[in-house]
Amino acid sequence: MICDVCKAREAEVYQPHSGKRLCRKCFIEDVRARVKEESLKIGLDKANKILLAVSGGKDSYVLADTLASFIDPQKLIAYNITEGIHGYNRREQIEQLRKYLSSLGIELIEDSFKQSVGYTLDEMMKYSIGKGLNVSACTFCGGFRRKLINNAGRAVSADYVATGHNLDDEVQAIVINLIRGDLLRLIRFADKPIKLSSKFVLRVKPLRKVYEWETTLYAYYSGYQFQELECPYISTRPTLRAKVRELLYMLEDKKPGTLLTILEEFDKLAEKVRNQTQLKEELPTCKICGEPTSYGREICKNCELLISAGLLNYHQNLPMS
Ligand SMILES: [Zn+2]
Ligand SMILES: [Zn+2]
Repeated sequence: MICDVCKAREAEVYQPHSGKRLCRKCFIEDVRARVKEESLKIGLDKANKILLAVSGGKDSYVLADTLASFIDPQKLIAYNITEGIHGYNRREQIEQLRKYLSSLGIELIEDSFKQSVGYTLDEMMKYSIGKGLNVSACTFCGGFRRKLINNAGRAVSADYVATGHNLDDEVQAIVINLIRGDLLRLIRFADKPIKLSSKFVLRVKPLRKVYEWETTLYAYYSGYQFQELECPYISTRPTLRAKVRELLYMLEDKKPGTLLTILEEFDKLAEKVRNQTQLKEELPTCKICGEPTSYGREICKNCELLISAGLLNYHQNLPMS
C-alpha cells in the first residue's frame, strides 16, 4: 500500500479519523502540521518565551519536538518537577530528558515538591493517611503541580505555559467537568486561554487535537527513551475518569473522529458561553501563599490540603482580607 500523501513511500499508518494511509514521514509531518495549526490559532509563534511543562513521559517529548519544528528553541524553556515518588522518579529519566531537550536547543529547569513545597508526594500522602484523610495522591499532585508550573512560568517571564495534554486527555476532562456541572472550570478547556488572575500565566495545550495513539506512535518512530513506568499511585486514581475513557473509546471505535468532533464542537460552544458570561472579575488570592484561588475561597485548595494533613500551621488570627 502506497502513502496517500506523498504517493511514493510505503504506507505504515492507518489514520481512522481521516481515512488516510500514511508513511512514517508523512505521519510525523501530519502531526506537526496539526500542532502548528493549533498553536498559530492562539499566537504561540508570536510569544517571546514559552515554558514547556515536561514530565518525561512520551507526550512531553512530542510537545518539545513538534514546537521546536516551527518555533525558535531559544524561546522555549522546559520545566520538570520531581514529585518524590519512591521507585518512580529516577535520575536517569531526567538525564535522558535533559539530553534530548538539549539536542533540540531547549534548556531544562529542574524542580521538586521537596524543594518548593517542603515535602515529597510520598510524605504528603503518609501524613494525609495518618490524619485519616481520604484524599487521592492525584489531588495533591495535580494541585501543587499546577501551582509550581504557574510560578515557574512567572519566574521566567513566560507569555505562555504549554503542557502536553493530548486529545484523549482533553475530551475526558471536558466530559468529567460536564458531569460535575462546573461551568467555570469547563470553559477553561476551550482552545483560547482565559486569564482569571493577573498572577496566572496563560496555559495552552498544543497537542490537544492529537490522539493519544498518535503521540505514542510519534514517540515510537522517533525512538524516544521516555518514562514508561506507570505511577504507583494510579490505583488510587478516581474511577470516574476510567469510566469516561472507556465510554469515549467505545464511541470513537464506532465512529472514528468522534473525539475530534466533540472537541471542535466544544470550542465553539465555549466561545459562545464566554461571550455571554461575565469573566472579568479577578480571582481572589490565598491568605497564606498569596496565589490565586477559586471565587469565594480565602485559603487555596493546596494550603488547605497541607493544613488538613498537619503539614502547615495556620493561625486564625491572621488579618481578614
Ligand atoms: Zn508519505
Ligand atoms: Zn495557598
